[in-house]
Amino acid sequence: MSNFGKTSIATTCPSCNSSVNTAVEMESTGTTHIVALLLCICFCPLVCCPYLMNCFKTSNHYCPSCKTLLGTYKD
Ligand SMILES: [Zn+2]
Repeated sequence: MSNFGKTSIATTCPSCNSSVNTAVEMESTGTTHIVALLLCICFCPLVCCPYLMNCFKTSNHYCPSCKTLLGTYKD
């Protein structure tokens, strides 16, 4: 799991046994964070936005062949 970072890596998919470069999608970790982000945008955008935009982000690594989630990386 520790091999996963923000960018695509070469690995072997355990699901389809293919050697692949992972497809990476950035996601917020949950709806609570989205709500918090929206609240901060409303009430203190200058203070909170740069902070929140760099936090609560998860990089999900998927197999491009079978779409299996291979691993995640959190900042
Ligand atoms: Zn696969």
